[in-house]
Amino acid sequence: MKRKLRLLFLALIAVFLVTLILKEPKTTIPNNIKKEVEIALGHFPELNGIPIEFKFKKNIKKSVMQAQPTWSGLLKPKNKRSYKILISEKFKISGEEFKTLDVPRDVLIGWIGHELGHIMDYQERGNFNLIGFGIRYVLLKEFVKKAERAADSFAVSRGMSEYILKTKRFILNHSEIDEVYKERIKQYYLSPDEIMEMVKEQDSVKDSNLL
Ligand SMILES: [Zn+2]
Repeated sequence: MKRKLRLLFLALIAVFLVTLILKEPKTTIPNNIKKEVEIALGHFPELNGIPIEFKFKKNIKKSVMQAQPTWSGLLKPKNKRSYKILISEKFKISGEEFKTLDVPRDVLIGWIGHELGHIMDYQERGNFNLIGFGIRYVLLKEFVKKAERAADSFAVSRGMSEYILKTKRFILNHSEIDEVYKERIKQYYLSPDEIMEMVKEQDSVKDSNLL
C-alpha cells in the first residue's frame, strides 16, 4: 500500500512538472494598467518578446510590486524564460488601506519601470544564479540593497529617471505611508539625489559621444 502511495505521489509530481514545462507563457496585462505598463515597457526594447505576466494580488507583504521569474521558465533554457510582476491591490498604511490604482499615473509607471529593471537584471543571470539570487535576497540585507539599486539603475539608464524620481518622492513625501516602508526605501534604494547624479553622468557621457 505504501509503495502504491509513493508511486501515485511520484506520478503527480511528474504530471505537475510536465504541465509546467508545456505551458506556453504569454505577456498578459490587466486592462486597468495597460497604458502605464506599455509606457514603461516602451523604455525596454530588450524585453520585447519576453513573456511577462502582470498580475494583481490582494496583498503583498513588504512591497507594492514584485518581479519574479516563473518556475516553468527556470526549468527551461535561459532564452525560454518568462516572468511575473505581482502588483499588490493595496498598500498597508498604518491601519488604513491605500489602493495602488489610485496613485498618480507617472508614479505607477515609475514603479513598473523599477520592476522591469529587476527583470533586466534577471536576464543577465543564469538559472542557478537566479535561484541563488532569490535565496540571497531573503537572507542578506546588503544583497537587497545591491539588487534594488541595480533595478533603479536599469530604469534610469533607459530614460525613466523622471518617473523613478516621481515614485521615490511620492513614497518619501507621503506622510501617511508606513514609516517602516519609508525606512526600507531609504535604506535600500537609490535616493533622489543619487538618481539626479546618475542622470548627470549619463548626460555627460552622451555629450562626449556627440563630440
Ligand atoms: Zn525592487
